Amino acid sequence: MKKKILLEFDLGLSPKYKKWAKEAAVQFVELFPEFKDSLSIQISKNKSFYTKEEIEKIIEKSLSNNPNIDPQEIKKHFILQPDGTYLHDDSVHAHILKSIDANGLVDLRKWLNEKSHGNRVVEKREPIVISVTPRLTTMGYGISNVVGPCISAGACESLMRGSEDEEAYFKEIIIHELGHTFNATHLERDNILDDKNLGTHCADQDCLMYLHAYLTERFNARKAQRKKNPFCSDCMASMRDYMQNVFDLDRKNVQENQVLHVNQGNDNQNSDPVVNDPSFKKAWREIFQPSAEKQKAEYKEDIKASEYRAEIKHTNGSVDKIVATGANNVSLSAKDKDGNAKMPNMQRFRDIVAYAQKQGSVIEFGDIKSAEFKARLLLACMEAKPAMQMVGAPELNDAFIQSIQDEKIKGLLQIMKNKNESQKDKPQTKSNQTRSSISMPRKDIGRNSR
Ligand SMILES: [Zn+2]
Ligand SMILES: [Zn+2]
Repeated sequence: MKKKILLEFDLGLSPKYKKWAKEAAVQFVELFPEFKDSLSIQISKNKSFYTKEEIEKIIEKSLSNNPNIDPQEIKKHFILQPDGTYLHDDSVHAHILKSIDANGLVDLRKWLNEKSHGNRVVEKREPIVISVTPRLTTMGYGISNVVGPCISAGACESLMRGSEDEEAYFKEIIIHELGHTFNATHLERDNILDDKNLGTHCADQDCLMYLHAYLTERFNARKAQRKKNPFCSDCMASMRDYMQNVFDLDRKNVQENQVLHVNQGNDNQNSDPVVNDPSFKKAWREIFQPSAEKQKAEYKEDIKASEYRAEIKHTNGSVDKIVATGANNVSLSAKDKDGNAKMPNMQRFRDIVAYAQKQGSVIEFGDIKSAEFKARLLLACMEAKPAMQMVGAPELNDAFIQSIQDEKIKGLLQIMKNKNESQKDKPQTKSNQTRSSISMPRKDIGRNSR
């Protein structure tokens, strides 16, 4: 399945916003290399206003396609305006007009409701429509549901006019709202904040799906970090899951350079660094450092090493050791408090999977001797949403499960195997539920949080 992302602009929107909106949509799609070919971005050709002659042509064309069509049915959708033109009742302009309040401001909730025709079921083939208006709103910059975002460039401009950040800010609004459309922060996942007025958001302060992501402070923090991907790994995983399992988007096999080789490290690991540019270390750090903090474990990194070299010391004295010689090669090992080799903490395997998902890679089982190690990596890959693509993984059968000594890992593998078997007979669950969220202007958020 392929999906269109249509950009639809209200009358009077300045060309710079049209350009930025399109660039933001491209930027969003680029984050998903495996689905990139299944998501096409187009500017909508649908107009708001038509002449009588144009309507006659539309009727003529429709009749040639289907002679049973009643021309009156088509005419009904065009409303005569005082200036003699006809407004199409399903155009961005018509929807906005129905949502405007006495002060001429757009009510984003009403607009989205008009555009979505209420709470109807959305078909998989339907495009996602990003609608942008230059008008100001009663509250907020944007709102979205499965049909797509409604964005007020006017609200953004009124706050950012002339600022060098205007472009980045506007693009982030679009990308955030697309995040909602692609189900980034659904209720069933971890790490979310559910707000009565603002909807469901990410609990990660550095993530663009954070509840208060539009606050100046958060915007500046993101700007300073200059991350390639503004979303956290939880949000990325949810969106990938949605693209694959709800939209059924065709998924392209990732290329060779997007394979992450995971190896079992040994005691005196001396690997030749393959990359001279140490910038790859940042992406590893961004995964392991916060993960260690979450576990209340001590994170230590050898900054001087040319490879990424980190140790995570747990309160029980055991230490996980991570060595990555580049963006696509990592080794993992661990020692207990007495310095004896042991299996790394299960969370480290999950970290590696989170890293691979962020990079859009598949995981290859590299140089791994122990079944216990393989079992943990396999488990982390299968637990991921969507499940991680694997190369060279052991088959999850009874013999493999029986060979595992660790009872907890063994139990989890058994559960995973049972789940896989029962899922084969069940149809996939589809979600037609609409989600919406209002992203309030920063001023309002400031007032509420004080
Ligand atoms: Zn997030
Ligand atoms: Zn939001």
